[in-house]
Amino acid sequence: MKPYTHEPFTNFSIEKNKQDFQEALAYVQTQIGKDYPVIIGEEEITTEEKIVSMNPANKEEMIGTVSMANQELAEKAMQVALTAFESWKKWKPEHRANILFRAAAIMRRRKHEFSSYLVKEAGKPWNEADADTAEAIDFLEYYARQMLKLKNGMDVQSRDGEYNQFHYIPLGVGVIISPFNFPLAIMAGTTVAAIVTGNTVLLKPANSTPVIAAKFVELMYEAGLPKGVLNYVPGSGAQIGDYLVDHPKTRFVSFTGSREVGCRINERAAKVHPGQIWIKRVIAEMGGKDTVVVDNDADLDLAAASIVYSAFGFSGQKCSAGSRAVVHQDVYEEVLEKAVSLTNQLTVGNPELLETYMGPVIDEKAYKKIMEYIEIGKQEGMLMAGGEGDDSKGFFIKPTIFADVDEKARLMQEEIFGPVLAFCKARDFDHMLEIANNTDYGLTGALISNNREHIEKAREEFHVGNLYFNRTCTGAIVGYQPFGGFNMSGTDSKAGGPDYLLLHMQAKTTSETL
Ligand code: GLU
Repeated sequence: MKPYTHEPFTNFSIEKNKQDFQEALAYVQTQIGKDYPVIIGEEEITTEEKIVSMNPANKEEMIGTVSMANQELAEKAMQVALTAFESWKKWKPEHRANILFRAAAIMRRRKHEFSSYLVKEAGKPWNEADADTAEAIDFLEYYARQMLKLKNGMDVQSRDGEYNQFHYIPLGVGVIISPFNFPLAIMAGTTVAAIVTGNTVLLKPANSTPVIAAKFVELMYEAGLPKGVLNYVPGSGAQIGDYLVDHPKTRFVSFTGSREVGCRINERAAKVHPGQIWIKRVIAEMGGKDTVVVDNDADLDLAAASIVYSAFGFSGQKCSAGSRAVVHQDVYEEVLEKAVSLTNQLTVGNPELLETYMGPVIDEKAYKKIMEYIEIGKQEGMLMAGGEGDDSKGFFIKPTIFADVDEKARLMQEEIFGPVLAFCKARDFDHMLEIANNTDYGLTGALISNNREHIEKAREEFHVGNLYFNRTCTGAIVGYQPFGGFNMSGTDSKAGGPDYLLLHMQAKTTSETL
């Protein structure tokens, strides 16, 4: 088998690629407005109550309607998944992996089509959409290979006259609750990690991006996944999210989203309900308040570019987004000036156009929340760029920079999940690290520095799950930079890493007297 390498990003300066992508967008345009059913085992169920998925760049355009599962359907899905588990867990790991390889191949062939759904439904600009699809392919390829590595368990010792073995078995039914910001990659990654390890799942996608999830579920069946292994149950958190998290037959929950919801899930999942004979596992990836730190001895152009692209890629709607720039006082003014100038060149607008750098934010609620933070920013710092929004057609917010923000200010502490960046001045390197570590989170960070000693010190003391030197703090690649953070960023899991699948399995020891 070919060794794993990540799916390359599409070069859109090549005319052919540009044309192919435009064709895919045109094709997806003919597909929008469809109705998607709940999928439970063999059954496709259309319900009265719908999630209406809108294009965040154009409030007039509906991407699709999706039937919502109520508690009764959630229960039915649980029963189907429990039954499917009994046979799926007996499938050979390599046969399960083969389905992921096939799914990766299909998605690769239809790459721009999937990316086009991301442009339409999530408002992703081309490059971001392309990276999201590439990452989904990576998760399929990588987790399939990881399963092959784990299928025989691990070595343990045996004494004379005995034979000891140690291997992994699946857990049971998992509930996957996925986010809007990587509506393909994270949704697919969390789902297939659970499936390839022999579990069956109930997938509840983000309510703003359920159509792309429906397209993915369709692809998994096309790749040969038995019905019942992956059940598609869109719905509201209050109605079915809580119900499934609380369910005594739920074995684990894999969640990506806000800190608030993650903590709530963790708390609910901890309670043992009548009929429940295990302690549920929770895998949660929850958020960040990530920092790009700039030393006084550093390439200042690289610093400004790293700050700007970490802050504003996909409108800052990444938990890895660098929403704080902490800069040494000696170079603060210069880096700030360069960053403002780069930011003013960024194009905001229709994500369907290649030249757009930043599309809209996901929905009205996000728009309002981010605009409120911009008002807070005006009290807490000096507005240097952006500061305006326009929600007449879609939910557009200009990339916004505030300077001279205090290290304890709300803008420096709270996750905004939008294109708002705070600059903070630091006295010296130790002060920089102190500020970088002063949040409740610990997801990503970057240090821009030419100083070896500082790089090594940061390696030890900058307390984040993903630390980058002389580059952006976003853009982790599956299998290269396993992704996940410390503290309130989640449960310390590493998506796309060599130990991720183990979170979905339990180890069994057998010892035979010979
Ligand atoms: N893995 C992504 C990155 O490295 C971020 C994922 C997220 O925002 O949830 O940028």
